[in-house]
Amino acid sequence: MNATTSFRQAIVEVPLHSDNVLLRRMPPSVLHSVLSHGRHVHLTRDVSLYQEGRPIPAVYFPENAIITRDRTFANGQSVQIATVGREGILGLECVLGFDTSILTAACHTPGSAFRIAVEDFQLLFSKHIELQQACLHYSQGLINQLSVSRACSLEHSIEQRSALWLLLTSLRCDRNQFFLTQDSLAQILGVSRTRVSIATSKFARKELIKFSRGHITILDRDNLERTSCECFDTIAGMFAQGQPELRTPKQVFENLPQVQQSH
Ligand SMILES: [Zn+2]
Repeated sequence: MNATTSFRQAIVEVPLHSDNVLLRRMPPSVLHSVLSHGRHVHLTRDVSLYQEGRPIPAVYFPENAIITRDRTFANGQSVQIATVGREGILGLECVLGFDTSILTAACHTPGSAFRIAVEDFQLLFSKHIELQQACLHYSQGLINQLSVSRACSLEHSIEQRSALWLLLTSLRCDRNQFFLTQDSLAQILGVSRTRVSIATSKFARKELIKFSRGHITILDRDNLERTSCECFDTIAGMFAQGQPELRTPKQVFENLPQVQQSH
């Protein structure tokens, strides 16, 4: 089954509601207008959404899916440049003067998203100032996020960054159990799988997490947070900036279901 086929089969229709933070900030009339022009989809793991140098077909508002933007080199190696979760939007290029994507986009963590065809989104963007403001605000937030991530990669250890990413994934998915392979985590951090495996195995020995075939469960969030770097609070704070309805990391984690530890 190729990516296009699996994507088509994954499309589902659900009521006019979205858990994407940007959409939830919209006034009811704008939200209704936006949601009337697209549809909810379930994104399966690794499904390809954008290809380098190809036209952008649609804009996505992730809900609990996480999408990655990658750059692939001539030798086939790829590195991750950015991720988009429910705090953001995929495809802003289409209203910033770019018709094609310079990066690939693929679903990293499976989940739901709201999809709007590019032509429809461009019309909505020109019509609703609230949507324009939210998208511009997110653009700056994304630049800030990339800046902090770059600084983090230069200064903090693989162990700290692994813990940081596990926490951010949990925060974005709004759950403490999610799918994330060690290969994916290595690609996110731009390091070898071996180095990531050393860090996550250490977390497992300390019972901070458990993992099996890509399924990660956070068992001890407080200590995992202490293992991470200061960048967790910084980036999580950026997700919440100007979005009072978005719960703080502490509120999210306090409301997650308790995990039964198996010994
Ligand atoms: Zn850091």
